[in-house]
Amino acid sequence: MRYLCIEGREQFVSTTIKKYCPKCHYRYSRRWYYGYPSKKNQIEYGTPIQKCPSCGEVFIDRDYHEIAIDGIRKVDTKHISGGTLFHSSLSFVFGTFLLIASIYSGSIGYSLVSIGVIALGAYELWDEYRGYDERQEWLQRETQESERRMKNPHYALQLKALGYDVPDCYLRRVSDE
Ligand SMILES: [Zn+2]
Repeated sequence: MRYLCIEGREQFVSTTIKKYCPKCHYRYSRRWYYGYPSKKNQIEYGTPIQKCPSCGEVFIDRDYHEIAIDGIRKVDTKHISGGTLFHSSLSFVFGTFLLIASIYSGSIGYSLVSIGVIALGAYELWDEYRGYDERQEWLQRETQESERRMKNPHYALQLKALGYDVPDCYLRRVSDE
């Protein structure tokens, strides 16, 4: 079994993760993350079966989870994730600190920057909160898609053959037919 190649590059506050086809090394994915993402934070929903757009090689990308098998991460069912709370708290603490400093120094420029930093933290919180319903609807659609895929015994078999953990209940259907 072949594994895909992953290259992670850590920048100051972010990480870019590039993924390459195991056969021809075509870069089929490039994603940007805050900080350095844990394996859990790199999880995507959708089919783990990838087809290289360049050479057509079919392989598994384990960052993609079949919801029907692996479920949804708890963090995706929350109104606001811990990561966002952390970023916003940083903005609030730093912004408040800067605001106090600007009041003491009488600098209008610093005051404006501090208000901007606080507003950015507030925006991040609000943006995630208001996107909650949309996220849940999207997750519901992804769940239905996943269940639809898993009902196809040929798909389930291919997934297993490529090395993904597929529970027997999906495979038994093949022999039932
Ligand atoms: Zn390829």
